[in-house]
Amino acid sequence: MRKNIIAGNWKMNTTLSEGLALAKGLDEALKGKTLKCDVVIGTPFTHLASVAAAIDTKRIGVAAQNCADKDKGAYTGEVSAAMVASTGAEYVILGHSERRQYYHETSVTLEAKVNLALANGLTPIFCIGEVLAEREAGKHFEVVDEQVRTALFDLSPEDFSKIVIAYEPVWAIGTGKTATADQAQEIHAHIRKTLAAKYGDVIANDTTILYGGSMNAENAKDLVAKPDVDGGLIGGASLSVEKFLPIIEAF
Ligand code: PEP
Repeated sequence: MRKNIIAGNWKMNTTLSEGLALAKGLDEALKGKTLKCDVVIGTPFTHLASVAAAIDTKRIGVAAQNCADKDKGAYTGEVSAAMVASTGAEYVILGHSERRQYYHETSVTLEAKVNLALANGLTPIFCIGEVLAEREAGKHFEVVDEQVRTALFDLSPEDFSKIVIAYEPVWAIGTGKTATADQAQEIHAHIRKTLAAKYGDVIANDTTILYGGSMNAENAKDLVAKPDVDGGLIGGASLSVEKFLPIIEAF
């Protein structure tokens, strides 16, 4: 079944003690609340095990922001999907535009990461989205189609149904510029159609598609009210309970 999810992406922010305080603060704030969405926090690798042990992971799922494209071995500095899973994390954000842009991640490496994440029981939150020039050239539909096709469409229907998609227009990430709710709905509906053409209506309808890009307390309600927007991936506003909580409560 399609789930509503609000996921935070802390990026390379917070020391361990700051991250623990943030996670515990959110856990405390959510205690006793009946929510209409699942809540996930994407912490740095160094925080995963401590955060997962410090909070109620039934209330808040924990995500890594990346994992290696190799299983294990002589890959100095890398963190495998199995290592991520061993911390108590259940999700992994993959293909974020910052990783595609700064670390040159390609569909080939991302496909390997998705496969390893799934093999280790993690739920990939797979990010796609166009840059401004592509949007201005009217190419955003073909860009997202290509991103899902090249990294995900070799998955079996069973494996594909474990994926969460996050549509994140690159021009809206960290810029304060949000896609309008209508723009988000338009492209989410398009993505769902693309998924339906490959995997059929049932799987496409059950796929959670998140919006990401300067989502905040003010714009979240309009975005999540759209039928094909099933939640959000939130960067900046996930770094404080005060800003993140109203987004969670937007459903
Ligand atoms: C993100 O990093 O995925 C993101 C959406 O960032 P922000 O909310 O800060 O735009």
